[in-house]
Amino acid sequence: MFVKVFMFAICMLATSFTWAAGGEVKSPTGVAPDRYVYYPGTEELVKDEIRLIACGTGLPAARRDQAATCWLAEVGNGDKFLFDVGTGSMANVAALMIPYDFLDKVFLTHLHTDHWGDFATLWAGGWTAGRTKPLRVWGPTGQTPDMGTAYAIEHFLKAFNWDAKTRDFVLSAKPGQISVKEFDYKAVNAVVYQENDVTISSIPAIHAGDGPVSFILEYAGLKVVIGGDTFPNRWYIEHATGADVAIHETFLTPTDLVKFYGQSPAQAIGVGTQIHTSPPAFGKVMSTIKPRLAIGYHFFNEQSTHDHILQGVRSTYSGPLSLAVDDMVWNITKDRIVERMIVSPDQAWGVNGPNKPPAPPAPGTVPDPISDFIKAGRWQPAEEAQAPMVNEFKKDNKLQ
Ligand SMILES: [Zn+2]
Ligand SMILES: [Zn+2]
Repeated sequence: MFVKVFMFAICMLATSFTWAAGGEVKSPTGVAPDRYVYYPGTEELVKDEIRLIACGTGLPAARRDQAATCWLAEVGNGDKFLFDVGTGSMANVAALMIPYDFLDKVFLTHLHTDHWGDFATLWAGGWTAGRTKPLRVWGPTGQTPDMGTAYAIEHFLKAFNWDAKTRDFVLSAKPGQISVKEFDYKAVNAVVYQENDVTISSIPAIHAGDGPVSFILEYAGLKVVIGGDTFPNRWYIEHATGADVAIHETFLTPTDLVKFYGQSPAQAIGVGTQIHTSPPAFGKVMSTIKPRLAIGYHFFNEQSTHDHILQGVRSTYSGPLSLAVDDMVWNITKDRIVERMIVSPDQAWGVNGPNKPPAPPAPGTVPDPISDFIKAGRWQPAEEAQAPMVNEFKKDNKLQ
């Protein structure tokens, strides 16, 4: 995904707190000192730093330009955390060329598809492309067990039973396993994760039903709040105050929901102002909690919507602001917050990590998912056609 001109315009709105100055080109054969972009995999994180990446900022309806919600936080100790994996977002995550072994921790704010619709892609794609261990998932309970994260993952695995059983025959089953840590959605500022100097807490959110939460990540004296879908709520106001970076949804205006999303006025006013956060309400949240940087997301950010969002936000908030699009990246330290765009390949391959893949199952230990009836239908001329290639490969690799 390559940088687009209008995205630069969005970035420029935020230059009061970014340090992406153009610098000086010293010779006609020299290099520009600052290209305003981040090339994944080319920069070491320093110890007291957080790199935050918008891997999905859009809506449930698919759009090539903006996947649905997904945030990646990379912290200076080497740990990486995915917050939501909304529909379409894994293509952006994959383009970062991070080994799947480092992408094993997923925190779900709630179970709408635009927040975990690409979970299957992470699960199966990572399994085939180098993850060596089970996925770890954290997510909230619901009012009843069937509305909670544990139920969702249990039935996710049932829905993808054919996928798992056929992979189990040729791959180690271990990376296909999922461990779930479900926590109380009503708990306020309760720690749900604490390892290696990283603390992640949850606060309740007010959305389409009970269950949704927002997360607060703390590391090296830095605080990043990852707001899930919510109407502005008292818990966010109390616990996001003093945040270095406060992410919060800001939804399309009711007028644009009618015009572009085909919603009825009654539906638009309900969706846009009661179960989500309108732009003026987002601004009021941010002028109250005063973060070093406010990030708004969860709308299709295009020429025809951007100004309406910005005008609404600016009617109640004048501080540092990013209106996110996919592939925005922020480097966060005590001293500064730098915002850039990612430049990454559309054709990225998976990259192996340092761990050796677990061994495939020994013959006969996993049921063969292909019957003799289906095997008997193999067309022999195809085997003959590929025999020279197969034999050469086997010889080169000392296979039987
Ligand atoms: Zn939602
Ligand atoms: Zn949503």
